[in-house]
Amino acid sequence: MAVPVGFIGVGNMGNPMAGNVLKNGFPMTVFDKNPKAMENLVQAGARPATSAREVVESSEIVLTCLPASPDVEALYLEPGGLIELARPGTILIDLSSVLPSTPRKLEPRAQARGVHYLESPVSGGVAGARAATLAIMVGGDPQILERARPVLRAIGPNIFSVGPVGAGNTVKAINNMMACVNSLAMMEGVVLGVKAGLDPMIVYEVVKASSGGSKALERIPSALVPRRFEPGFKVQLMNKDLDTFNTIARELHVPVSFSNVAQRYQQAALAAGLAEMDTSAVVQIIEGLAAVQVSQAGQAAAKSAAAGG
Ligand code: NAD
Repeated sequence: MAVPVGFIGVGNMGNPMAGNVLKNGFPMTVFDKNPKAMENLVQAGARPATSAREVVESSEIVLTCLPASPDVEALYLEPGGLIELARPGTILIDLSSVLPSTPRKLEPRAQARGVHYLESPVSGGVAGARAATLAIMVGGDPQILERARPVLRAIGPNIFSVGPVGAGNTVKAINNMMACVNSLAMMEGVVLGVKAGLDPMIVYEVVKASSGGSKALERIPSALVPRRFEPGFKVQLMNKDLDTFNTIARELHVPVSFSNVAQRYQQAALAAGLAEMDTSAVVQIIEGLAAVQVSQAGQAAAKSAAAGG
């Protein structure tokens, strides 16, 4: 019989991941401090819990997907937290993107109680979470990963065992820094293109077939042109991941540059009130600096301004 699984934190990412675990036949108990976030999962057959305690008491494997280190450390480490309440032998897996210092704190505390713990940040966005195509970066004991693999396989096929705890969140921060820098380079390029009178979709088609292409380019048709900025992946979470990258760089005395530039744009977006919007919304900051908008209307305006001037 399939092992009972718990899922705590079913927001933009956790919700579709939990849905896929459920679809794979694992009996599931779910908890989110926002009860609305659980509704679709309960309709799909998950048992709703009213506390994290209820989840950990009824599950052999517990997955968590919370915003950031302080949330994760509180849930796992506080008195009455997951590590204190889990039965020995329980496997706790944190899917959140956090500072590497967080898993390094949690693992020994779990081990002291005979509880297993893996860090397991993911990548692929909400679309990848829905399609169960996420990349999963597991830090921790590979033997425990083997026991948890059928559950993780339900959320993505690319499961990497990357080293001891802390390694998973290190590679995750590297990935997100690169994704963010690619995305900002794309945004500056397309804003310049529109200011120069180009159709943003021409920039998209040409660069896609050329050497400047990256996954970030897909945001031109999916977000920038249609002005679709709902998350997705919130600006405040990308800012947190750049903080993680910069913290690791500082600790290791690696002088990095691009992540600082990228974080300056996230800071500007936070100051502009875009914290809860998708990271694509950062284009609005670049558009403000260039006094142009990446949309068909913006392109038309740029053309007429160029004709007038
Ligand atoms: P989110 O804000 O949409 O969801 C977080 C959920 O956790 C919310 O529903 C919130 O109510 C719940 N929550 C917070 N504290 C809780 C607690 N103590 N007990 C129960 N529920 C609690 O965030 P998200 O986009 O789902 O991101 C979650 C994590 O996944 C973050 O670390 C993020 O960096 C990472 N991530 C996100 C994406 C993405 O595209 N959104 C992609 C990869 C990784």
